[in-house]
Amino acid sequence: MRKGILFVISGPAGSGKGTVVKELISAHKEIALSVSATTRQPRPGEEHGVHYYFISRREFEQRIESGDILEYTTYRDNLYGTPLREVKKALDRGRDIILEIEVDGAMQVKRKIRRAVTIMLTPPDYKTLENRLRGRGTEKEEDIIWRLNRAKEEILLLPEYDYSVVNEDGKMKECADLIYNIIKAEHQKTKNTKRELIKKFI
Ligand code: 5GP
Repeated sequence: MRKGILFVISGPAGSGKGTVVKELISAHKEIALSVSATTRQPRPGEEHGVHYYFISRREFEQRIESGDILEYTTYRDNLYGTPLREVKKALDRGRDIILEIEVDGAMQVKRKIRRAVTIMLTPPDYKTLENRLRGRGTEKEEDIIWRLNRAKEEILLLPEYDYSVVNEDGKMKECADLIYNIIKAEHQKTKNTKRELIKKFI
């Protein structure tokens, strides 16, 4: 059976990746979304096992030691990581899976799984990014500045990614559609089709 493809989607805070990925997954239920583990506290409305697996630092470290974490990073003093088992299960069943993770983790995945496809979602420009972060009205000034600086660092890693997608204001659906087109195109790459197709002729 054909294996699924692992897609990594990264994007700085303010790129709207959470909303875009949610739109993509709800329109294409055949695609799985990896649920990360984190040591950060749940925000209001976040559920264990749905948004994240909220676990203790001790448990996180044990899971790293037992090889159960595909990649992980520290983000604002908390650990975030991808549980390996669910990713493997989806791929073995021929199901595509999306990891919505930051750049450091994305680079680790790329090193470990060469077939992984990386997509960076960006806001159209710095001004829009700043407006979006300030417009949320949920973060303190100190946090906003931290995120803006972090966004600059993340965007500098864009050349390492396979694809870039710009998320214009009010174009969330178009953006999700574009990512879906990338997913479909990846399936048509000859490295993914050749074995099955040639076998039908020879
Ligand atoms: P938040 O706390 O806002 O949910 O997430 C903070 C950052 O961590 C976001 O950039 C998010 O994409 C990233 N993130 C979430 N899960 C993972 C993960 O499993 N691994 C890595 N490397 N980053 C993650």
